[in-house]
Amino acid sequence: MIQTEAPKSGPQGWMRPCGSLSDKKDSVGAIAPGVMRFGVLTEKGHAEVHERPLPEPGPEEALIRQEACNICTTDYQQWLGQREGRGYPIACGHECAGTVIKTGEKVRDLQCGDQVALAYITCGICEGCKRGIGCSNNEIGPRQQSHDGYRGIFGYADYAVRPARALVKIKRELSPGEAAFMEPLATVMKGLEKLRVKALETVVVIGAGTMGLLNAQAARAFGCRVIVSELLDNKIALARSLGFEVIDGKTAEPASEVMRLTDKAGADAVIVAVAAAQANQQALDMAKHLDGRILYFAAGYPAPEIKIDSNIIHYRRLELIGTFGAELPHFYAAADMLNQDRVKVSQLLEGSRYPLEKIQDAFAEAARPGKYRVSVLLN
Ligand SMILES: [Zn+2]
Ligand SMILES: [Zn+2]
Repeated sequence: MIQTEAPKSGPQGWMRPCGSLSDKKDSVGAIAPGVMRFGVLTEKGHAEVHERPLPEPGPEEALIRQEACNICTTDYQQWLGQREGRGYPIACGHECAGTVIKTGEKVRDLQCGDQVALAYITCGICEGCKRGIGCSNNEIGPRQQSHDGYRGIFGYADYAVRPARALVKIKRELSPGEAAFMEPLATVMKGLEKLRVKALETVVVIGAGTMGLLNAQAARAFGCRVIVSELLDNKIALARSLGFEVIDGKTAEPASEVMRLTDKAGADAVIVAVAAAQANQQALDMAKHLDGRILYFAAGYPAPEIKIDSNIIHYRRLELIGTFGAELPHFYAAADMLNQDRVKVSQLLEGSRYPLEKIQDAFAEAARPGKYRVSVLLN
């Protein structure tokens, strides 16, 4: 374990004490220790636990006892050495949820004991934030480097101080691992907004991994007919158990199967939720002949190609749409989807959970092909 000097934070002494929580059913009970312990990628293939002093929350911040952080593709691809652009050491992890245990005195809409999930940490004052097009402030969020040398936002930390505006309430009926799906689901809400799905449209989702099945469930919640295409048997089985029409890409050619299922009409919209050149090609072939829309949801390393000439885009009036990330309204929309059980995520979590001490094993598990989300339990 590595100890570092206390991080700078808001003015000390501003926090509002929670009072006694012991009489509440969802009581936190615990008093935060003076240190926070967190998972760090120190180099390719190596995750370990470090600790540093735990700061007090500033007036507009809250202290969170973090309960779970799910391992995103972004994180395990860095662990695999495929996606190292963010550098090391990185206190990564961003799909996290926990319980509010202390609030700064200007925090109005969070109470101690609330379960919250973390949205993106933004400055709230730059041009991008004001216009709702993403924070461009490098001093904050995942691009920042802390004074003690870490990149990342300390997703795999047992305790963390967060800006209150980046915390969104999730009902207690959901486990912390389920609540942590707010972030990936927010990116889905952003993508569906860009794709402009409408009720009664036929949407094909290629890939029944975590992001594919989040997209599929959210599109269904919008009133679409959703067809899922997948190659792996365990993912086909899960997609079917969630009630979707599923094309088994091993036994049928997905594009012609979509044509058959839609009486040759094709899909109004296709969501490519797997990073593969073949999927990119299938999407072009299964979108309806005129005015089809295709959303590219996944990133792959090395980058998959799309081969299409611009005449085809022109004559078919195709829309090729990219998406990545989300803005604050998408996090609230995602929280609504979870809180209203419109999207169910319990089956998107792998059964094996890992305590923080076993974070290296958790990464190894997450990086195995065909896995759904692996959860690191932080408390
Ligand atoms: Zn993620
Ligand atoms: Zn900003």
